[in-house]
Amino acid sequence: MVKIFDSIYVNNAQKIVLELKDITPKGYTENYRRKLFCSTEGCNAKLSFVAKSGNRSYLRTWRYSLHSKHCLHFFDKEEGESSGKRPNVQIGVVYGDQMNRSQKEAFELEVLSEEERVKRLEDKSRQRNNRNKRLRKRSTSEQLTIHMILDPSKLTEDSPKLKARLYKRDVDTLKKNDLGQARTLIGKIQSVNYSEQNAIVRIFKNNTYMNVKFEKAFFASAPTYINLFPYIQRFSEQNDFAIFCATGEVRKNIDNDEFELIVFNKEGLLIHGMTLPSLVASYATQQLSF
Ligand SMILES: [Zn+2]
Repeated sequence: MVKIFDSIYVNNAQKIVLELKDITPKGYTENYRRKLFCSTEGCNAKLSFVAKSGNRSYLRTWRYSLHSKHCLHFFDKEEGESSGKRPNVQIGVVYGDQMNRSQKEAFELEVLSEEERVKRLEDKSRQRNNRNKRLRKRSTSEQLTIHMILDPSKLTEDSPKLKARLYKRDVDTLKKNDLGQARTLIGKIQSVNYSEQNAIVRIFKNNTYMNVKFEKAFFASAPTYINLFPYIQRFSEQNDFAIFCATGEVRKNIDNDEFELIVFNKEGLLIHGMTLPSLVASYATQQLSF
């Protein structure tokens, strides 16, 4: 595999050559991610930056991106795939039912008493460890080390993962390494704003605030949700501590320096334990009054 030493940073009309040594993890997550391309003329392959300690960071070809035939990095992909090794970066697909489950669990945990919460987390962790042990027996050749972690909140990106897990985060526990990742966020609703093809639910926990954004991509996948956000607003006005759980991609907002969550799927939100259609139905059947 030919090592990639430089890249082209493309930002709208601006194109800048960036050498590997010019790229810091911070610069990458905040500015360059998804905007780095192969520097070979005529090649449009996308690159990603893999941060390692010391000077071991490297550039690699973005998954599923292809180099042009004449590019010296053209064979990178085939070599990587035929080596039979697990990729360093696991990309997990998060399915709708996984989101539903994650949000439901998050909501239930949020409304439990502290004592019940600890017990629930320990049970869950025990189940997970048992499952991991079973899986380990099946795959002896892979030499995976499974740590016994009793507190799920201690799990990090570096924890060994046998399959992509959808991590939950409270608004005030989001960290830099959540950036660019799919997460389920839990917080109380502060405010709801919406327009034609755009809605923002602002949530908080312990004085940390963030916006959960529903944009074009969301409404394209859930066109019937366009007129339903007033119900969330109404519900949050009638309930001081309406809990909002949402699954999406964590980003950083450059303007206010807050984290934000971009939701893409109609399964991506749960309002105090209810899906948006079920919340609307509660108003329609007058279990709740508008
Ligand atoms: Zn290339």
